[in-house]
Amino acid sequence: APPSPFLEPTSRTAPNTLAIISLSKEHYQPITLQESIGAVDGYAEGVTLNTRFGSFPHSTLLDIPWGSQVRASVVDTGSRGRKRRRDQVEDEETPTSNQDDGNDTPTSAPAKKAIAASSGFIYVLRPTPELWTSSLPHRTQVVYTPDYSYVLQRIRARPGTRIIEAGAGSGSFTHASARAVYSGYPGSDADARGKVFSFEFHEPRFEKMDAEIKQHSLQGIVQVTHRDVYDEGFLINGKSPKASAVFLDLPAPWEALHHLARRKTLKGGKLDENPGDWDSPLDPNKSAHICTFSPCIEQVTRTVTELRTLGWTDIDMVEIAHRRFNVIRDRAGVNIPSEKGFSAQPADVAEAVKKLKSDLKRTQDFHKAQTSQPVSDTSESKMDVDESTPESNTGDSNKTEDPLWLQGRLVHRTENDLKTHTSYLVFAILPREWDEAAEEAALAKWPCGG
Ligand code: SAM
Repeated sequence: APPSPFLEPTSRTAPNTLAIISLSKEHYQPITLQESIGAVDGYAEGVTLNTRFGSFPHSTLLDIPWGSQVRASVVDTGSRGRKRRRDQVEDEETPTSNQDDGNDTPTSAPAKKAIAASSGFIYVLRPTPELWTSSLPHRTQVVYTPDYSYVLQRIRARPGTRIIEAGAGSGSFTHASARAVYSGYPGSDADARGKVFSFEFHEPRFEKMDAEIKQHSLQGIVQVTHRDVYDEGFLINGKSPKASAVFLDLPAPWEALHHLARRKTLKGGKLDENPGDWDSPLDPNKSAHICTFSPCIEQVTRTVTELRTLGWTDIDMVEIAHRRFNVIRDRAGVNIPSEKGFSAQPADVAEAVKKLKSDLKRTQDFHKAQTSQPVSDTSESKMDVDESTPESNTGDSNKTEDPLWLQGRLVHRTENDLKTHTSYLVFAILPREWDEAAEEAALAKWPCGG
């Protein structure tokens, strides 16, 4: 298999490889670059990426340095091109440039049209797990970069680590963990190479993941298995994957934990009297580090109980709160560039004061409205209402006559708060097993106990 673009960076784009197209700051699209058979110097476009910012024949995206900016094509694109030109005539006044470099100022209508056809541009980016997470086709909820970066360092994923992951879902965590464990050096001992053992019980999702892993040339690092891990655990063809790191993003992680013991254990922690030739999926010579990822605190409680029962130690829980801060310069009053240098102009100051006053009034009106309204009965706001409070808003119309304190608890939070909570992360460690034989072996190796 060719080297994976996620693991072995190249400097230029090439045919039959994945590229992540940046259409705008927040909008990425994955494409497989294809050789454009029939694309002859601008007369036929061959395989083309069509976007609302223009058309980009793949021939213009190939054999260029990763990160290049590419302008939309001005080639006659046949019937689709005619439709595009019609669209552009319709919104002639709307600039079509997606990233404002501010230089395109058409004057005449034909000039406007010509420039509109070519003013959009894209960036062609080399695939990374972060960009894949931002652009992948969502089949499930996914683990985002702030969470998986933290998780991977806490479960000690590094080159050579063997990770168990369930469920695979959309493969966001899978790609990040593949890069973390990739040890890279050619000819290395296969058993010493890092590996991700990924499990998924939903058949179409498993099929899609399996195909994607092959398309991305990750099959040497990632092995996807179609499996219900609650029932069947984590062995591969009856053999141990010898993992030292585990990540469970499952609705009921506690149902799978008894399969991650050192000796065959039944759910609830009782040792299985008839282990047969069962092998532990964990590496016997290393401590195992686990993380479970659950959106609700009730799931956390059940997981922690089961972890304790099964002998895991150092149990703790973390929530990653990822906030984006928009840093801008305030133009009110100071440092406004003018012909005479950096100083405030009276007209600008008056404008800024007017805007501040109107913002202040809007904020005051908003707070007034908030304090005079009961909690609305949306599913989102319900999540925060204490359901044990009998006074919670039930939608009963008689309640509107009640005093305010009886009409329900006031709840308000920002949209931001809703979006940033993804899940609670539970971490724990299962020490390696130690017995007399291990002690003797250690003493033989390090007689002074060093
Ligand atoms: N971590 C993934 C990512 O970053 O893209 C998302 C995982 S998604 C939230 C949870 C997945 O677990 C789903 O695809 C679901 O089908 C799978 N799943 C649920 N129960 C399972 C089970 N018993 N065995 C294996 N997979 C299971």
